[in-house]
Amino acid sequence: MASLVDSLTRSIFNKATVIYKQQVAPHVYHLRIRSEALKGRHLVAGEHLRLFVGIGRDTTLDSKVRTYSIWDHDSTQGVADLAVCTHSSGIGSRWITEVAAGEDIYYMGPKGKLVIDTNAGSHLLISDPSALSHMYAIRRAIPPDAQVAGITYSSDVSDHYADVDGSRPFDFMLLQYDPTESLIEKSNSLRHLLSQKTTVYIAGDARVCKSLSRYFRQNWPAEEVRSKGFWMPGKTGMD
Ligand SMILES: Cc1cc2nc3c(=O)[nH]c(=O)nc-3n(C[C@H](O)[C@H](O)[C@H](O)COP(=O)(O)OP(=O)(O)OC[C@H]3O[C@@H](n4cnc5c(N)ncnc54)[C@H](O)[C@@H]3O)c2cc1C
Repeated sequence: MASLVDSLTRSIFNKATVIYKQQVAPHVYHLRIRSEALKGRHLVAGEHLRLFVGIGRDTTLDSKVRTYSIWDHDSTQGVADLAVCTHSSGIGSRWITEVAAGEDIYYMGPKGKLVIDTNAGSHLLISDPSALSHMYAIRRAIPPDAQVAGITYSSDVSDHYADVDGSRPFDFMLLQYDPTESLIEKSNSLRHLLSQKTTVYIAGDARVCKSLSRYFRQNWPAEEVRSKGFWMPGKTGMD
């Protein structure tokens, strides 16, 4: 059964080759892939790929696929960078520890809804480590004359890996338990850096995304809120 699903997937998905893999934090790997199908492709900051991480495993197609944000890309070379976390004990986490440079992998995309708002003149980005590369990608695409502030949080300071250019443009918060109240407080303290018409991007733990979105919609009514849960306890492979 596994081989039937695998060979079907290989024929439907695009092929890429892993050209670089490096651990950039105790729970984060930087992966670079090259694919003919990405050459000349226009990408919007905030798009993702769906990777076929379950090859050779006897599960349904749905539980063989995991989503990873495009951290950086070079469309001339057909290259995309991803940051894959291993905080979970799932199939994606196992796959990234095992995959090696030179191996072929299979993916779908790019696509995505949590993308840069090109009409906004002001941006606030909030994420946990699973969405940090996503926010870095959006951050780099924001024009220099726009206002921008960012917060990333984790219970472990070593999760705060740098962007591809070595910078750490977001404020880091070390938060152990429910981070919502602290993130709200911090967002309000950054508000003077932003204009009235701010687009707020929130991604990571789905519970935090939900409570923060509710807060911003009720209390920052003039702002646009774009939110996406990347993971949630008890659920696997959210998309
Ligand atoms: C649009 C989108 C973009 C995404 N981009 C990225 C990305 O760039 N990098 C990335 O690493 N992941 C990203 N994810 C999440 C990713 O798709 C996987 O869900 C995640 O890597 C876990 O997969 P898994 O197979 O290892 O664990 P799963 O089998 O999906 O989950 C196993 C268990 O681990 C828990 N878990 C999953 N993630 C975490 C976490 N971060 N911290 C604590 N517990 C967790 C789950 O709640 C579950 O209980 C994205 C998700 C979406 C929807």
